[in-house]
Amino acid sequence: MDIAANIAKIKNTLPLGVNLVAVSKTKPIADILEVYHSGHTIFGENKVQELVRKYEQLPKDIEWHFIGHLQTNKVKLIIPFVQLIHGVDSFKLLKVIDSEAKKINRMVKCLMQFHIAEEDTKFGLNLNEAREILVNNEFKSFRNVIITGVMGMATYTENTGQIRNEFKFLNVIFSTLKNEFFSGDKRFAEISMGMSDDYQIAVEEGSTLIRVGSKIFGERNY
Ligand SMILES: *Cc1c(COP(=O)(O)O)cnc(C)c1O
Repeated sequence: MDIAANIAKIKNTLPLGVNLVAVSKTKPIADILEVYHSGHTIFGENKVQELVRKYEQLPKDIEWHFIGHLQTNKVKLIIPFVQLIHGVDSFKLLKVIDSEAKKINRMVKCLMQFHIAEEDTKFGLNLNEAREILVNNEFKSFRNVIITGVMGMATYTENTGQIRNEFKFLNVIFSTLKNEFFSGDKRFAEISMGMSDDYQIAVEEGSTLIRVGSKIFGERNY
């Protein structure tokens, strides 16, 4: 498998303004370096320990994104270097991110994760839960988190119509929040959606950030 060729092929099809997170979870350092040396510097991991280990071993100009479910007691381990936390799904988590970032005088970008799939196993907020966070006065006092957009995962299904509708829904959520809370804020601009099997649909539905693993690195063996 030619990893560098895989990522080049995907990137060549992406319209301007759509960025790619190379999801390297479970994959060895050598594979990540292969992608890095091909000129790609944005990588995503979903386990804190694995992310920290890879951060320590790899070049420091890599932009690391955390894409998994983040436990509050592990936040401080990634705050010194993480560039974007995709999966913020509670006020409590946001509060811990803000306070840990404040301690080291960093600003940390976060996306609010929404539940758009039909499975109830996937994490995420609904629109009203997000509104509750955004109107909260304590949230408004946070100075070390920047909400830069939304993230979601579609249902794992062959039904592309359903996947498309779920992505459309996330786009509507993005626009709604933009209008209600972020109309003057250019930083609120990201819609993180689309993985190996559905990123083309996601891009058609307005994704600005796709998260692709197996289409680049090959299937994962857990
Ligand atoms: C693993 C993972 C991906 C990438 O999945 P692939 O199907 O291998 O592209 C994207 N997003 C999240 C949140 C993930 O956990």
